[in-house]
Amino acid sequence: MTIPRIELNDGTSIPQLGLGVFRVPLPETARVVADALEAGYRHIDTAQMYGNEEGVGQAIAESGLPRDDLYVTTKLDNGFHQPDDARRAFDDSLTRLGLDRVDLFLIHWPLPMLYDGDFVSTWQTLVELKKEGRATSVGVSNFQPDHLDRIVDATGVAPAVNQVECHPFFRNDSVRAANQRLDVVTEAWAPIAQGRVGDDDSIGEIASLTGRTPAQVVLRWHLQHGHVVFPKTTRPERMRENAALFDFELTDDQMRAVDALDRGEDGRQGAHPDTFDYVPR
Ligand code: NDP
Repeated sequence: MTIPRIELNDGTSIPQLGLGVFRVPLPETARVVADALEAGYRHIDTAQMYGNEEGVGQAIAESGLPRDDLYVTTKLDNGFHQPDDARRAFDDSLTRLGLDRVDLFLIHWPLPMLYDGDFVSTWQTLVELKKEGRATSVGVSNFQPDHLDRIVDATGVAPAVNQVECHPFFRNDSVRAANQRLDVVTEAWAPIAQGRVGDDDSIGEIASLTGRTPAQVVLRWHLQHGHVVFPKTTRPERMRENAALFDFELTDDQMRAVDALDRGEDGRQGAHPDTFDYVPR
């Protein structure tokens, strides 16, 4: 399987498709990631708060794959935004993953209600980790347009990616436009609306017409919009289904039909980044 890569604003590139491991329990993670690698995935999206980096690391170590063939993303725990904490937490991630660098390290949430509203010094710390070569690329997640502008104005460095909720029912247009304006790649989380795209009639119709599944139609819609996706599944047959995306295309009319499912804010399934203030422990 050849997965296309998307260019990032720092001169590197990222595989456009990966596997997300949110809510995969630690004891299952090594098996799930090993199955994904077996199915041809080379990009894994985890996070400190998922509690399963060790499983990702175990599967990577046991795979015997060359490090440079893999693309590993992790994200900073909401409890560790202060610069010294962020550095320590980053070191702990490398230890759990068994790696001496990650490909991409993200601020998981901006948390504007916490840390006196300061996510700029957290971003500055990630920029330093990149300069040190221990994170090849750095980026953010769940940043609204004003959050992006603030870190770019303060540091002059735009994140390589902004990983945000995005699916047909919540296109998240304002954030995608800000990403585009700043040359930031959009990574779409919950790309298949956590499985809900299977219940939609218009998507079902396009699936029948193209001989694909609803998940494949929607993942293809993301790819044609230039998004990076990493649908989560623990099932090998769905891993193969979700990766069989590179031998068909949606027509302009089909793209528009999926675009038309956007419900704006009503379609949002996750938390709003302006108010989300969860800190583990
Ligand atoms: P997804 O949109 O990827 O949906 C996952 C759900 O869909 C699971 O219940 C899965 O079940 C099911 N599913 C997977 N494939 C299929 C298929 N082909 N047909 C039908 N159902 C399917 O949601 P996620 O929230 O997991 O998002 C993906 C990734 O994005 C996460 O794993 C994580 O890496 C990232 N993420 C990031 C966030 C952030 O704040 N930065 C927040 C949320 C997610 P099963 O496992 O049983 O197959």
